[in-house]
Amino acid sequence: MAATFPLPPGSTIGILGGGQLGRMLALAAARLGLDVVILTPDEGSPASRVAARTIVAAYDDPVALQALAQAADVVTYEFENVPVRAVEALTALGAAVAPGADALRVAQDRVAEKTFLNASAAPTVAFAEIGGADDIAAALPRIGLPALLKTRREGYDGKGQAWIRDADAAPAAFAAVGAAPSVLEARADFRRELSIIAARGRDGEIAFYPLSENVHEGGVLRTTLAPAEVTPAVQAQAGQIARSVLDRLDYVGVMGIELFDLGDGGLLVNEIAPRVHNTGHWTQDGCEVDQFELHIRAVAGWPLGDTTPMVQVEMTNLLGDEVHDWLAIAAEPNARLHLYGKGEPRPGRKMGHVNRVKSR
Ligand code: AMP
Repeated sequence: MAATFPLPPGSTIGILGGGQLGRMLALAAARLGLDVVILTPDEGSPASRVAARTIVAAYDDPVALQALAQAADVVTYEFENVPVRAVEALTALGAAVAPGADALRVAQDRVAEKTFLNASAAPTVAFAEIGGADDIAAALPRIGLPALLKTRREGYDGKGQAWIRDADAAPAAFAAVGAAPSVLEARADFRRELSIIAARGRDGEIAFYPLSENVHEGGVLRTTLAPAEVTPAVQAQAGQIARSVLDRLDYVGVMGIELFDLGDGGLLVNEIAPRVHNTGHWTQDGCEVDQFELHIRAVAGWPLGDTTPMVQVEMTNLLGDEVHDWLAIAAEPNARLHLYGKGEPRPGRKMGHVNRVKSR
């Protein structure tokens, strides 16, 4: 049966994916009196530990998708590599899925993403579609050196990427990304990395948080400071980019938009994530309505609520063994600890984060 919105408390949200983002979405849903059913291939996932129900199966398992469509009043996802055909199958089964398949399709392919962004008043670096090492040589005169080769699909946290510093290195770079279909990007000469977390409701209402400043190490997010120190003009430009991207996708839910701040008032979009985002974790302890609640409100057809910041927050990811500092962090004033319930702290694995209030 087709759901009618707004979904009242007692309704069920389905989430594709069982990681920490699903966990924090489930916690936010629970606070609003909504139940969550998770579909994940993994037993004992971080999200399942706090959800009413879990279906353990592959994302494209037809029986599992049928069960999810039956159980959930609306279905969402917590990572962008969910197969588009799973979302299409859910839709065909009559489930309301938000964000929709278009957002996934765009976010899963860096060429489609950049093409879409440039058509949406959201500028990116110059880029070229790459099918083989020869394409790199052909594109370099336009793209310039150094250039960054990235796989079109399934790259995250800096994986599947190779810098090209001279034209002779093209074959090696193509081999380094697994000879996969790729995109060649001009180097962004950025001063710092920013992001904007934005949401769009079922009625087209748009809300966003102030920009955050993000520091990456080895391609992985280390810290976020938010609200970032930016001019009103830069904040306004980011808001315009967000509005344009969300409207064009007829988007419902939260999106993370990663930006390069060129330092001259200009912004470029690096990538978009059709989901809650690591650079939005600061909102849990900085805003009235955090990004997880904002996403649940949007997909459930509720008013989006207040995204105004109350304090400035520095978010630090706890990677691998850093999670062992939990006791000291728990004793710190002005620090809020968020742990994901993951077993083994492998190197670089996101185990939790801490939000430290910087100023009120
Ligand atoms: P990505 O996987 O696209 O988010 O890239 C990971 C990180 O690599 C970004 O956060 C940037 O620090 C850096 N990076 C990505 N693309 C570019 C680019 N075109 N120019 C310079 N640095 C980049």
